[in-house]
Amino acid sequence: MPTMYQPLPEHPHLDARDPGLLAAVARGEARLTPEQGLALLTGAPLHELGRYADARCRDIHGDTYRTYVIDRNINYTNICTAKCIFCAFKRTAKDHDAYTLEHEQLYEKIAELSAIGGTQILMQGGMNPDLSLDWYLTLLAGIKERFPHIHVHAFSPPEMIEFVNFFDPPGADLVEKVRWVLARLKDAGMDSLPGGGGEIFAPAVRTKIGLGKCTAEAWLQTMYAAHSLGMYTSATMMFGHIEGHADRIHHMRMIRHWQDKAIRDFGTGEVPADVAGDPSVKKQTTGGHYTAFISWPFQPDNTALGRLREWPAEGDAEAHGPAFPGDVVAQLDGSGTKDLHPEFGRRLRYAGATEYLRTQATSRLFMDNIYSIGSSWVTMGPHVGQVGLYYGANDMGSVMMEENVVSSAGTTYCLDEAVLCRLIRDAGFTPAQRNNVYDILTVHDGADAPDRRVTDWSAHRAQRLHAEAAKGGAVSQVTVGGRKR
Ligand code: SF4
Repeated sequence: MPTMYQPLPEHPHLDARDPGLLAAVARGEARLTPEQGLALLTGAPLHELGRYADARCRDIHGDTYRTYVIDRNINYTNICTAKCIFCAFKRTAKDHDAYTLEHEQLYEKIAELSAIGGTQILMQGGMNPDLSLDWYLTLLAGIKERFPHIHVHAFSPPEMIEFVNFFDPPGADLVEKVRWVLARLKDAGMDSLPGGGGEIFAPAVRTKIGLGKCTAEAWLQTMYAAHSLGMYTSATMMFGHIEGHADRIHHMRMIRHWQDKAIRDFGTGEVPADVAGDPSVKKQTTGGHYTAFISWPFQPDNTALGRLREWPAEGDAEAHGPAFPGDVVAQLDGSGTKDLHPEFGRRLRYAGATEYLRTQATSRLFMDNIYSIGSSWVTMGPHVGQVGLYYGANDMGSVMMEENVVSSAGTTYCLDEAVLCRLIRDAGFTPAQRNNVYDILTVHDGADAPDRRVTDWSAHRAQRLHAEAAKGGAVSQVTVGGRKR
């Protein structure tokens, strides 16, 4: 995975749509200010935004390959102490459908993944106070013993913060305590830390939707602790609910800032080429940093947040003015308070396909120090995910053997490798399987490519192997190439 972290100049006096500025951003020679990012997100024509985001993506990733990973989402428990109002997945220990999977059940799932050529698990759960540190260490060691070739992309900052609360590790501050826990998990077999639980960082929004979940500062410091140990992490954002547009830019700004900090403090882990073979050169850096950013719109089904009325409901505009409450409250520095609008947090503004593409394209242009931008077909559906490859995304994420969290909120797209390859190829790129650090493992340009081996697309169905939290929920049939599958 190449790195791309030279400090870039800002040009705050220029209009956000200045062609010279956007061309420089697309070449990786200039950085957008938050004000310019907001202006692009809210004001640039969609295709113009997409054109520059695509140019930036091609500058980094080239014109040929677009990638995916074969991994498996494994949710080891749905018992959680938090009360996020956007979540349809969590249960209390007393609920009849609460579960915690046994280690052997988890190993079976990984064996199924390994059998289809998978390389990684994304293993996350609720914040379950009944599980000990030893439970996690034994699990991780057991995974590595049985499946040394499987990358363990596991847990999330909110889980880490609760591990600190549950296990009471030594340390003078949060970063030290998190690092103590992380170091043990890493030694046992955890390879990298996913960016789950990012949601929206601005406190006014976060405290409304994520009851019992860690603060943005704790989330970012947890990632910093992981970076200090040389671990790679990803970052996420869930939008299209009560937040304002400025909240999205603030969120991206915080990740960009902490990525700068991680690179400054820990480097990229790469030894300069001219001294790489010199054994007297001591590697000074650990190189932990964010590798990827993935954003997706809120999925409302079966959630308390989804029961809010959309803005404007009858009489809203007359009583409170036409502006969406989230936009009235949101500030680019995250300082907005709920007091600025009486309906803040009580009205939703969903994000559809164009809003999704605008947000993703803006993230590619604004977050100049993030290597990979993922397209979220899991929430947006395969075809919007496919179009996302022209709006700044270089990666289609994972073949989905199993998904329990988003599907609990009503969205259940499941694609196998052949379908994912076809989506990428139909978009004009060569599909390539990657690993966790975005190195390409297999280029599918031959006759034996997964999609080219399918002889009858009308009979081809994406398979879903397991679904702990959405039993009875039908797998969506999705259309690729004009056919239902
Ligand atoms: S989103 Fe995560 S932390 Fe929040 S309630 Fe659901 S499982 Fe728990």
